[in-house]
Amino acid sequence: MSVKVRFAPSPTGYLHVGGLRTALYNYLFARHNGGKMVLRIEDTDRTRFVEHAQENLIKMLQWAGIEIDEGPGFGGDCGPYVQSERFDLYTKYANELLDAGKAYYAFDTAEELEEMRTRLQSGTKGDYRYDRKNMRNSLTLAADEVEKLIADGTPHVIRMLVPENENIIFHDLIRGEVKINSQEVDDQILIKSDGFPTYHLANVVDDHLMKITHVIRGEEWLPSTPKHCILYRAFGWEEPLFAHLPLLLNKDKTKLSKRQGSVAVEDFKLKYNRDAFVNFVALLGWNPSGDREIYDMNELIELFNLEKVNKAGAVFDTQKLDWYNFQYLQKLTPKEMASELADELKKREMPEMPEEYLEKVCVLVKERVNFIADIPDYAPYMLGDITEYEEKYLAKHWTKEKTPLMKELIARLENSPEFNYEPMHELTKAYCEEKEVKLKEVIHPLRLMITGKSIGAGMFETMEVLGREECSKRMKNFIEIYG
Ligand code: GLU
Repeated sequence: MSVKVRFAPSPTGYLHVGGLRTALYNYLFARHNGGKMVLRIEDTDRTRFVEHAQENLIKMLQWAGIEIDEGPGFGGDCGPYVQSERFDLYTKYANELLDAGKAYYAFDTAEELEEMRTRLQSGTKGDYRYDRKNMRNSLTLAADEVEKLIADGTPHVIRMLVPENENIIFHDLIRGEVKINSQEVDDQILIKSDGFPTYHLANVVDDHLMKITHVIRGEEWLPSTPKHCILYRAFGWEEPLFAHLPLLLNKDKTKLSKRQGSVAVEDFKLKYNRDAFVNFVALLGWNPSGDREIYDMNELIELFNLEKVNKAGAVFDTQKLDWYNFQYLQKLTPKEMASELADELKKREMPEMPEEYLEKVCVLVKERVNFIADIPDYAPYMLGDITEYEEKYLAKHWTKEKTPLMKELIARLENSPEFNYEPMHELTKAYCEEKEVKLKEVIHPLRLMITGKSIGAGMFETMEVLGREECSKRMKNFIEIYG
């Protein structure tokens, strides 16, 4: 059996991280098994139509490195891949079920349904399943009456006839056997009164026609699966295998929601390194081994298996995501980092700087930031003049009495034959020995003069990047103000 999977998003306007995780697992599974990946747009709910949503979805998948084998704009023999372009098909299949007595027409008005709900709720069972025996439908009405209602254009839906008291059993590749009695399953609407299909009908028809072998989707669809199984059986079609992925959770273990931070891939794309983000998302609910956490796409493909996907929800921890960004930041070339930093400077309307210089700045501080975009805040003194001296740091490490000691050191540093880490470090050490002071007694004042801040990269490395002229200017400037 050659594997064929699909990612079937509804175009709601943005790609949810949960959706990306689903797409990614489908993709990894397809590639791991030498199978195919289908993208199907499930836009049966036209009231939720959002312009450009489809383009945007595809852009995000491509950004994440997810390749699509069949889909809108990607070719394939099972198209069209957009459900709104397949409406006739769904009607045809709904009619097939009607003819076979496995679906029926229902004419109930909204008020009648509301009444039914109130009645059922007050009953002992207290559930909301459609009460097919006591409502106005083709099971309770005479055939000629049904015909007349339809001929008169009375609004109606088509519902699936759920078999009575049957055990619906399916095997979930992550959860094992799932069993539910058909008494628990509602007579799901298949075709709405506007003639449009519901998700359930369109989804099953398309998975069948598109020859999907494995349905890998979020846990929130698990309650729908028995309905789908009933439909497959009603049509006499073979069911695909199912795998329901664990929920994504906020840190407080509630279901991941917009209220506790962003959930749109579009937002993460602005902030995170692509490979870091994909690596992080891949490990939300799955881990191929013990402690290893860094995997590139090829490794993920090689190792992916559904059996190791967890049942329990996975916490979406942005701190961990930041950690991933840090890890991937370390792997970037100076050129890549510099170009990101240049973009950030532009965004902040800060002065442009030579690429070569920005490369050095990035190499200098990359182990101290999670994001390139943090560099202007972490080390503003590398990207412009010092605007302030940290008050506490100044109070702790500077007194006027230090002026002569520092002035002489400054003079020696300025005249260092090479303005590099090694010689400056040696020179300063020798100077301290000569003056019988500890190294830190001059390093802190030096840092204050050069950076204005208490934290930063190594002092002499920092000075080397800034260069002789700039350091000299800053040291003199400081002595002028505080000396
Ligand atoms: N259109 C559904 C969604 O938005 C697809 C669910 C499924 O994969 O069956 O997620």
